[in-house]
Amino acid sequence: MSYVDEVLEEVVRENPHEPEFHQAVKEVLDSLRPVIEKNEAVYRRDALLERLVNPERQIKFRVPWIDDQGQVHVNTGYRVQFNSAIGPYKGGLRLHPSVNLSIIKFLGFEQIFKNSLTGLPIGGGKGGSDFDPKGKSDREIMAFCQSFMSELCKYIGADTDIPAGDIGTGAREIGYLFGEYKKLRGLFEGVLTGKGLSFGGSLARTEATGYGLLYITEEMLKCHGIPLAGKTIAVSGSGNVATYAIEKAQQLGAKVVTCSDSSGWIYDPDGIDVALLKEVKERKRQRLTAYAAARPQAVYHEGKGVWSTPCDVALPCATQNELTLADAEQLVANGVLAVSEGANMPTTADATVYLQEQGILFLPGKAANAGGVATSALEMSQNSERLRWSFQEVDAQLKAIMVDLYHHIDDAAKRYDREGNYVDGANIAGFEKVLDAMMMQGIV
Ligand code: NDP
Repeated sequence: MSYVDEVLEEVVRENPHEPEFHQAVKEVLDSLRPVIEKNEAVYRRDALLERLVNPERQIKFRVPWIDDQGQVHVNTGYRVQFNSAIGPYKGGLRLHPSVNLSIIKFLGFEQIFKNSLTGLPIGGGKGGSDFDPKGKSDREIMAFCQSFMSELCKYIGADTDIPAGDIGTGAREIGYLFGEYKKLRGLFEGVLTGKGLSFGGSLARTEATGYGLLYITEEMLKCHGIPLAGKTIAVSGSGNVATYAIEKAQQLGAKVVTCSDSSGWIYDPDGIDVALLKEVKERKRQRLTAYAAARPQAVYHEGKGVWSTPCDVALPCATQNELTLADAEQLVANGVLAVSEGANMPTTADATVYLQEQGILFLPGKAANAGGVATSALEMSQNSERLRWSFQEVDAQLKAIMVDLYHHIDDAAKRYDREGNYVDGANIAGFEKVLDAMMMQGIV
């Protein structure tokens, strides 16, 4: 049996009940076969892949907090410090009832390669909790964040592990987490990214993941002779990534006709009104029904359905496994040209294979949404320098990183005879640097 197959079997055996983690590891290791086969005996001797798929450290802790009625709740907190070969652990904190160890491990594993692809010195990690911020008062959110940080603060620091936002963790939560860290550790340092602008946050970090998604998608299309301007785009989600993807797509001359939340989705034939979307979701924290109520030409549908909308480009920006094989078939039947993942692993494994077989340009999340963590690393640089760069400066660096990233994964795919397969290109290009660092640092 090949070394890759042995390790894949071991991952399933040793981590039962972690399907998302198995899915992420399988996708990466399948891509890495040609790289591993070149030097299999040495990698097997050094247990390279076993070290890659086992987190350096995983922390699980209890998070007790008191609601507005005086009732105590207990949630579970996680931080998985996956790989620090090329830099301190970096990755977001997800607050969502679906969070469990499998989800955090899949995200942490993906983060290793994504962070490497940015070209910046950051290792991979991820964390979060099964706490649901929806419907909670600001005081309850603060109580949870303070309790969460009272334990997490023992394991993180500006040079060791720097968490950031993710689903359910936005500027409000990062603010409460930072305040508690500062109080407990007595340190004003860049220990979190996505901070408010008044205490060390970077301009353009809020926009970065969505903007970066459009920069890399535009570059990919351009290299295939397709202009983005004038195209119709379907977006899922209506959170941070989706909102700024829609904003940048429209700035680049495309029309975005959909967005969604976990209750339903909007079809807006005139193009999503971003100012209204921000008002509803960012400021008032309402459901998309409020968007439809304020915009007569928009149609609201309950449940799933974004991918039934005819479009040239699909940008899944909500959550994992939200674009299934049936959705992919529908997109292809409607003439889609490209799918770029704004979320992490939003396309199921069979849907990814189908899209690639149909010749659809497919950019995986670890490349397409890397603009967020890249800009987080720029926030870390600014914190270390005690300086603030202008919006234009950060945005220009973000754009350069995303354009380089596309060419980096394109080159890697070509070097291994996988031209146009950006899943393999991203996994290989992300892995090469981590591999080099792990081999040079000895058995640690
Ligand atoms: P937000 O919490 O801001 O928004 C998430 C959006 O997805 C919301 O519209 C939410 O709807 C919807 N959603 C969440 N879970 C589900 C679900 N189970 N089913 C259907 N819809 C769901 O998160 P972000 O925009 O920050 O993150 C979105 C994705 O992008 C995630 O996969 C995240 O890991 C990834 N990502 C985020 C980065 C960032 O910088 N923020 C960086 C790189 C990747 P509702 O409002 O109803 O909950």
